[in-house]
Amino acid sequence: MTLEGARERWVRTGGVELCVAELGDPAQPTVMLVHGYPDSKEVWSEVAARLAGHFHVVLYDVRGHGRSSAPQPLRGGFTLEKLTDDFLAVADAVSPDRPVHLVGHDWGSVQAWEFTTVKRTEGRIASFTSMSGPSLDHFGHWIKKRVSRPTPRRVGQLLGQGAKSWYVYLLHTPVLPELAWRGPLGKQWPKILRRLEKVPGGDYPTPSLPTDAAHGAWLYRDNVRARLRRPRADAYAHAPVQLITPLGDVFLSEKLYDELELWAPQLTRRTLPAKHWVPRTRPDQLAAWITEFVTTTEGGRTTSAATGPYADRFGGQLVLVTGAGSGIGRATAFAFAEAGARVVAVDRDAESAARTAELSRLIGAPQAWAETVDVSDEQAMEKLAEKVAAEYGVVDVLVNNAGIGLSGSFLDTTSEDWRNVLDVNLWGVIHGCRLFGKQMAERGQGGHIVNTASAAAYLPSRTLPAYSTSKAAVLMLSECLRAELAGQGIGVTAICPGFINTNITSTARFTGVDAVEEKRRQKKSARLYGLRNYPPEKVAEAVLRAVVRNQAVVPVTAEARGGRLMSRFTPRALRAIARMEPPL
Ligand code: NAP
Repeated sequence: MTLEGARERWVRTGGVELCVAELGDPAQPTVMLVHGYPDSKEVWSEVAARLAGHFHVVLYDVRGHGRSSAPQPLRGGFTLEKLTDDFLAVADAVSPDRPVHLVGHDWGSVQAWEFTTVKRTEGRIASFTSMSGPSLDHFGHWIKKRVSRPTPRRVGQLLGQGAKSWYVYLLHTPVLPELAWRGPLGKQWPKILRRLEKVPGGDYPTPSLPTDAAHGAWLYRDNVRARLRRPRADAYAHAPVQLITPLGDVFLSEKLYDELELWAPQLTRRTLPAKHWVPRTRPDQLAAWITEFVTTTEGGRTTSAATGPYADRFGGQLVLVTGAGSGIGRATAFAFAEAGARVVAVDRDAESAARTAELSRLIGAPQAWAETVDVSDEQAMEKLAEKVAAEYGVVDVLVNNAGIGLSGSFLDTTSEDWRNVLDVNLWGVIHGCRLFGKQMAERGQGGHIVNTASAAAYLPSRTLPAYSTSKAAVLMLSECLRAELAGQGIGVTAICPGFINTNITSTARFTGVDAVEEKRRQKKSARLYGLRNYPPEKVAEAVLRAVVRNQAVVPVTAEARGGRLMSRFTPRALRAIARMEPPL
């Protein structure tokens, strides 16, 4: 990871010389990326490359790191006041007439909180995107509140964060951290990082690492204890803030950001399933969120338009739903749209797919497209996957939902019936998982696949042998794939709805009967599903929740949940029910 094509300059301030790199057009808004500990500006390489097409991107090595010189003496040379001087000097050099959009990770975020909350930078910061680095003032108040007014929950939070902060105590010890970094820790760090983060990206040349890390220990020693003991009472952000919280951060608890709105009234929250070093592991997502936030702030808006319950998680993500022209697929596309996701609505019916895309835009999707594809057609799916990757990007969430119903005894089901139902219900899911799952895995930045199975996957019946077999296969496929992709940060969920009031009852085929009887049965089942009246919107809610919680198998409706329990604990009872005559 290097900053290819960057222009370099040096900025002198307060006795140090800072190495500053610039990418992109200086006439565009300036986005300034501040790195953390123990990193140098190169940690931002992947994000910077993605932002450079839209913005003037500026990065600098924090004093004592990378190619910037270190203050002498070190003690007292890394105070937040001096770091603020550095920021202002760089901002004045690269963007003298326009405020900059700050982005900070880890200690870069800790110091950027200082820049965004002190008076002397007012008017110099247009927005601030913070990740994995709290304000020391807010953290100080957070601790005080929990110590002075303890409740079991607050004490638990305090102990939880205390345990995650073990390294902060170590960094306060004299000499030891320096010795460790210049010795085995420095050598092993890339390997440790790769293991910690479990994704590629940990390995890049870090020639200055031992020195950076040794210098950076003063960031902690010069600031943490003093500021946590006496946090400022007026540490209010004077610019809009976007908070990106990786939910798997081993160093910081998400609870630290409870009530952050008190300090940052113009706050947009984002969450993502990732560990601490998101600039390396999730550059696409960060670049998308930074771009959206900077663009909306420049346009005079301060918070995201999306209002859905999971807007913090799915805003700006690319979600593809098959069978999106009707029922559960359409409701799922709408729920993601409401959460601010970019939606690709796929259906074999062009008109209904187009309608879903159009309504998704009205509901809140920043972008939505319709694609007409039969999911059972392998070549058409291959073309779709190529087109989506080339024009919209790698899908973050894939929902393989398209499916058809088929009812009738095994002996009345022809080979062609079997082929039809398996082609759509199973092969459609296989094509989706194979093509889009491969793209997700190759990108190496995680993702999620949802496959719509059915409660029929685990409930035997004498009337749905082909349909149930197809859904049982989807359930097992999902479990196997979940095991395979877990190491790459890709979750897989099988959704198992019970009776949902959709159009499937009117389009499902009935074997072994003539056309008139088939129509009668379709009408009757539509009536029965109508009486049950469980709306597809509730299944959509379960889909979004399942992705957020990375659930493996999700039965939806009481009958689906009850059936799942019976299949585990009383399978003989289920077999007896399966033998009963159907009501149709
Ligand atoms: P729906 O209202 O009929 O919606 C299914 C959509 O998928 C329709 O727009 C359909 O288009 C489309 N589709 C069908 N075959 C396709 C193909 N080969 N390629 C692309 N699109 C195709 O049914 P739904 O109830 O929402 O069903 C969605 C999923 O949930 C299915 O997998 C179904 O098996 C499953 N499910 C449903 C229930 C339930 O009670 N409704 C219960 C459990 C599981 P056409 O209208 O042109 O066919």
